[in-house]
Amino acid sequence: MNTKKTALITGASRGIGREVAKLFAKNNYNVVINYNKSEKEAQDLLEELNNENLSVRIFKADISNPQEANSLVNYTIGQFERIDVLINNAGISKFNLFTDISYEEWHEVMNVNLNSVFYVTKKALQYMIPELQGKIINISSIWGIVGASNEVHYSASKAALIGMTKALAKELGPSNIQVNAIAPGVIETDMIKDIDDDTIDMLKYDTPLMRIGKPIDIAKCALFLAQDGGDFITGQVISSNGGFVIY
Ligand code: NAP
Repeated sequence: MNTKKTALITGASRGIGREVAKLFAKNNYNVVINYNKSEKEAQDLLEELNNENLSVRIFKADISNPQEANSLVNYTIGQFERIDVLINNAGISKFNLFTDISYEEWHEVMNVNLNSVFYVTKKALQYMIPELQGKIINISSIWGIVGASNEVHYSASKAALIGMTKALAKELGPSNIQVNAIAPGVIETDMIKDIDDDTIDMLKYDTPLMRIGKPIDIAKCALFLAQDGGDFITGQVISSNGGFVIY
C-alpha cells in the first residue's frame, strides 16, 4: 500500500511543469511526469530525480488524444494506486493575427490547451471522487484574463480553462476536491524564447516587481494550493504575475 501522495503533472518535460515536478518530488510526492515530444529531457529529469532517491516515473502521451490521455491516468494508477493532485499544465502557444489563423491551428491550440484537460481530468476523477479528497490545479494564463492580441486562440483556450475551473469547483466541492487555476504572467521558459530582449525589458518595466517570472514561482504556488494551505480555496484564479496584471 502506497502511503505517499501522488501528483500527476502533464507536460512536465520542460519549463513550468518540469519545475513543478521537481518541487513536488522533493516534497515527498510520488510524481508522474508526462511528456510528449521531449523524450530526452524527460529521461534526464527522471535520472536526476532518481539519483536523489525520489519517487518519480515518466510517461509519454500526447494528451490531446483521448486514448493517450486515458493511458496516462491508467499508468499513474498502475504505478501508485491513486491520484491526489492533478496538475493540468501542458500547453502550446501560437502567435498569429486572428484573420490568419487556420482551422487546423485553431483546433490544435484548443485540443492541447483545453480538450486535453477535459480528457485527463474526466479519467482521473474516476479514481479521485471515490477517495473524497484531491486537488486539481489548472495552469491558465494572464492572457486568459485580459486577452492577448495575436493570440486569440491561446487567450480563448486559457479563458475557457478558467470557466472550467470555476464550474468544476462547484460540482466537486461536495466530494472535497478543490479545483483552482494559476494564471501565470510572463515566465522564463521556451514558450517565450522568441520574444526579443527589448520587449522583455519593457515587460519587466511594466511589472511592479521589476522582473519576469521563473518556473519555480509557479511551482511554489502550485505546491501551496496542493498542500493544506489550499484546503479552503476552490474555484479561484491565482495570478502569479509580479503585479503585471492586477484586477
Ligand atoms: P514550455 O516550456 O513550452 O513547455 C510546455 C510543456 O507542455 C512541455 O513539457 C511539452 O512537452 C508539453 N506539451 C505540449 N503539448 C503536449 C501534448 N500534446 N501532450 C503532452 N504534453 C504536451 O511551456 P511553459 O512555459 O512551461 O508552459 C506551461 C504551461 O504554462 C502552459 O499551459 C502555458 O500555456 C502556461 N503559461 C506559460 C506562460 C509563460 O510565459 N511561459 C505564461 C502563462 C501560462 P513535450 O516537449 O514533451 O512535447
